[in-house]
Order: sequence, then structure tokens, then C-alpha cells
Amino acid sequence: MAEIIDTADEPERALERALATLHGSDPVALPTETVYGLAADATAPAAITRIYAVKGRPRFNPLICHVSDLAMAEAHAVFDPLSRRLADAFWPGPLTLVLPLAATSTIHDLATAGLDTVGLRMPKGFARTLIRRYGRPLAAPSANTSGAISPTSAAHVAADLGDKLPLILDGGPCPVGLESTIVKVEADGVRLLRPGGLDAAAIEALTGTRLIRPERPGAAIEAPGMLASHYAPAATVRLDATAVRPGEALIRFGGRRIAGEEAATVVLDLSPSGDLAEAAANLFAFMKQADATGATAIAFAPMPPEGLGEAILDRLARAAAPRG
Ligand code: AMP
Ligand code: MG
Repeated sequence: MAEIIDTADEPERALERALATLHGSDPVALPTETVYGLAADATAPAAITRIYAVKGRPRFNPLICHVSDLAMAEAHAVFDPLSRRLADAFWPGPLTLVLPLAATSTIHDLATAGLDTVGLRMPKGFARTLIRRYGRPLAAPSANTSGAISPTSAAHVAADLGDKLPLILDGGPCPVGLESTIVKVEADGVRLLRPGGLDAAAIEALTGTRLIRPERPGAAIEAPGMLASHYAPAATVRLDATAVRPGEALIRFGGRRIAGEEAATVVLDLSPSGDLAEAAANLFAFMKQADATGATAIAFAPMPPEGLGEAILDRLARAAAPRG
């Protein structure tokens, strides 16, 4: 079983054990502001291969590479002026920039899936400190079995991958709770590759233009790895529910009651006050909690599509997508 170290109680020991684990080419599960990541040296093929083995990912997808500072980012990627402005405004934070790989980059093909671009992010907090000490970028997808719901607590990671990992760092619940927003600056504008924990409106306010979105959410999947079915709990997922059916769990929003909810296996409200950031932070934990009731389906009440609601609805659409 994995050793679990609390990063607030024992920051130095957490760092030392994480560094030793990374140097031994084993992945480390660690907290970030978005979700828990499974981190390994982005320049070391043996270490990256271990990430795929632990997650049981069916194939190699591009992984987001995490950096501690702009100098590290610029050693591995070429920044156009607008990408640089986005980094200045939103890093560290829940924004991933897809950028051309720099000629000098030592990030391995297994982390980029052989693309000539790389997804870079600068995380906050302990993860950033660890990367600074390690001195090289860390590739880190979410710390869960492939296709499952992303973990937002160390307990989620332990329940899923505890017997496959040497070390889980516990930094408490993830404050954002959704994966990063991924964008790419292109000739005709800034493309939203994945809505996520940074509100797209904040990016649009900075650039002064609308992000380029796929016609249908999740339709234009440019990179491998954005499988239609993802974030899948054991129960099926039913969206826009206006009434609860027998055997279902209910996840609702904004304190609004739904017909038949007395019969639900559990009723969870993502944010009784209607706060989308709170809803995002609760989403994955509530999906796991609803699933654990043994419900046949998880019914989701309608959610507002604006702000972080865009990313929440993207995750729900994937959770509800046909499995295969
Ligand atoms: P995650 O599983 O949260 O680490 O997210 C990884 C996702 O980031 C991939 O599935 C891609 O959608 C995206 N990504 C990473 N690198 C690239 C890249 N070079 N180009 C486009 N998308 C990327
Ligand atoms: Mg994931």
C-alpha cells in the first residue's frame, strides 16, 4: 500500500520522499489546485511508462507537463506574445497552454505523444515547490484509473490506486476540483481545447475576443486522449433530470428541489447557494458519493451553462456518453 504523507503536517518529509520516488522513476500522486495528479519526470521514458501502467491507459496520450517557473517553461516551449500574456495573467493556476515544443526541449515523446506541441501548466502550491526542487518538468495526468472520475482528495487516490503506488501526498481537498482549462493560440484566435477550472470568460476578458469553441461541446477533439466517454462512474448518468426515477441518486444545484427526490438513494446539492465555483469543487466527490450508494443511475438536475458551468457540463456530457 502507498505511504500517505500530509503536505501541511510534514512538508519537508513529503518533499524528500517525493524527490526520492521521482528519482527512482516511480510516479507520485500529488495534490494540485485542479485535481490530484500522477506525476513523473516528463523527460524520462521509463517514468512516463509507469504512469500509463498505473492508470491502465489504453494508449499513449499527450500529458500535461507541469513547470515551476517561466524559465523552465521557455526551455521547453516557444511562447508567442499572446500565450506569454496568458501565462503572465493566469500562472500559476488552472490554465494549460498548448505551445510548439522548443528545439532545446528534453521532454520525451511519450509525454507529448509524438506531437510537435506540448501542453504546459504552472500549478500552485506544493506541486510547484516540488517541481522547483526537482528541476525538471513533471508530466501529470489525473491520478485515477483510466476513464474513471478524477480524484479531488487523497482518499480518492488511495481507494483507486493505493495498491499500485509507493507514495500519495495529501494536500486536502482540491480547491478548484476540475481539470485545467486548455487553450491554444492559433493564427485566427485562441482555441478552447477543453473547458476547465479557469473560467473561459476570464480568458476572453484578457484577450478581448471570444474563444474559438467546437460547434458541439466535445466535438472537435484535436488531441488524442479526449475520449468521449470519460469520468464514468459505475452508475449510468442521466442529465437534465426534472424528476427522480426509482433507484436513482440525485445531484442537484442551487437549492432547487426536484420531483420525487424523497425516493432518491441520496440527494446532494453541488451548491445550495448557486455558486458555480463551489459546484465545481464538489462535483467529482459527489459523483463518487452518489455512485457508492449503489444507485442504478445518477440523475443530474439542470445546471447553468455559463462561467464554470461550461466545464461542469462538459464533464457531465462525458460521464453520460455511451461507454465503450
Ligand atoms: P490530463 O488527462 O488532464 O492530463 O489532460 C491531458 C489532455 O491535455 C490530453 O488528453 C489533451 O487533450 C491535452 N493535451 C496535452 N498536450 C497536448 C498537446 N500537445 N496538444 C493538444 N492537447 C494536449
Ligand atoms: Mg484524467
